[in-house]
Amino acid sequence: MSVQHEAPIEGAGEALEVWIDQDLCTGDGICVQYAPEVFELDIDGLAYVKSDDDELLQNPGAVTPVPLPLLNDVVDSAKECPGDCIHVRRVSDRVEVYGPDAG
Ligand code: SF4
Repeated sequence: MSVQHEAPIEGAGEALEVWIDQDLCTGDGICVQYAPEVFELDIDGLAYVKSDDDELLQNPGAVTPVPLPLLNDVVDSAKECPGDCIHVRRVSDRVEVYGPDAG
């Protein structure tokens, strides 16, 4: 699944990381459809991020790097997330670039 972007992807030249606020996750699995390399539904029915070596990070709010080739998919996930609970931020200053707290 992909969404057309009218503007260049913000943050494409910088290291980004992503985390999920599980308190707001509806468990619909949209993020897993967009980016199964980064997101996975755990047995509690909520989405969690995976480490760069494909390990599910089961701590609520765990943070993982966004692989550059998957940036579009992760950004689309954040935009489409019904819970508004996917947060994409710069590694350097932790400023959110996509998600409910993005400026
Ligand atoms: S898209 Fe958002 S609400 Fe849906 S499973 Fe993923 S994190 Fe949860």
